[in-house]
Amino acid sequence: MEPRPSIDLAALPLPALEALLEGQGLPRFRAKQIFQWIWKRGATDFSAMTNLGRELREQLSTQFHIGTPTIVRHEHSDDGTQKLVLALADGRQIECVYIPDTPAQTFCVSTQVGCAMGCAFCLTGKMGLVRHLSAGEIAGQVRVLAKATGLLDAPFNIVLMGMGEPLHNYGATMQALALLNDAAGLAVSPRRVTLSTVGLVPMIDKLASEPLMPNLAISLHATTEDQRAALVPPSKKYGLQAVIDACKRFPVRKRGRITFEYVMLDGVNDTPADARRLVRLLDGVKAKVNLIPLNAAPGIPFDRPSDDRVNAFARILVDRQLTVSVRKSRGRDIRAACGQLIVEGGRAQSAAQALAAALS
Ligand code: SAH
Ligand code: SF4
Repeated sequence: MEPRPSIDLAALPLPALEALLEGQGLPRFRAKQIFQWIWKRGATDFSAMTNLGRELREQLSTQFHIGTPTIVRHEHSDDGTQKLVLALADGRQIECVYIPDTPAQTFCVSTQVGCAMGCAFCLTGKMGLVRHLSAGEIAGQVRVLAKATGLLDAPFNIVLMGMGEPLHNYGATMQALALLNDAAGLAVSPRRVTLSTVGLVPMIDKLASEPLMPNLAISLHATTEDQRAALVPPSKKYGLQAVIDACKRFPVRKRGRITFEYVMLDGVNDTPADARRLVRLLDGVKAKVNLIPLNAAPGIPFDRPSDDRVNAFARILVDRQLTVSVRKSRGRDIRAACGQLIVEGGRAQSAAQALAAALS
């Protein structure tokens, strides 16, 4: 096989692409054309770029490539959810999901292969951190999803709720938002992006001053310091109250709210007393609550509560004027649901492979 051309043009923001190509003696508008082909049209190689001229396309393809995660598997759920398993240049695999009509079209993307945070109920956490994704790999999932679902020209939302903890891969995540925001490409407004975090407090404060600040979702899951520390290990360092205080400092947009995700574990954090404590905790926070009944799986030592328990919990929140939604689990038949993003086989870590083998 020929050695791969070294520079990945899909990893570069437009100004860097312009500087690179100008350095090669090409006029500036060429960079914009190429950026548009990649990010507006989803081009994966130069042969598609018909307004460039054959000679130029050939010249470009000897020096550069357009790094694009390749689709290993494309699964369609009965409820319309689609899950893509993507292979990266090094053979590692990640997953991303298209969730239709919620009412918006939503892409759920990963920020890491695996995750270092180790939440007690999460399959991705069981993998451990294999590696961070680059900005091109994070944004590339959106490009591949938009093309595969025919939504390159349609408005869509992005949730950073796939594999990994986005604030643990802060720089690449912010660069990915810049790639996606460029008006010459997909032009995704930060208002359409929601970043879900386990609550890494210094990074939440940092996020607050980003020009491309996304909406914030906090994975809360518990209402006492001890219980949260047991379920969400980073809480030993950044406790429950510190996370709430960071949320109170966060510059929420006009009419915006912070989403608090709360995975419900049968008999553990789903009692009426938990619900009442949650109401008190969120007092003074511009909040909405997203209850997520556990997606149970082998290897996760918890059960999903009954619908009655979930509804009783939700009722207490609603009665105290909190906005509450219960997350309908999407794509369960193709294991695209929350916390079930784990790559089976492939080149994931051996622990993940062992777990995956047990699941298949
Ligand atoms: N690492 C980030 C974003 C990815 S996880 C975070 O934790 O916020 C996205 C959401 O899925 C989180 O709220 C997480 O708690 C939830 N989740 C993880 N495992 C789950 C499971 N087994 N069932 C239901 N939701 C789960
Ligand atoms: Fe990581 Fe989020 Fe899973 Fe926790 S819930 S292990 S932070 S992916």
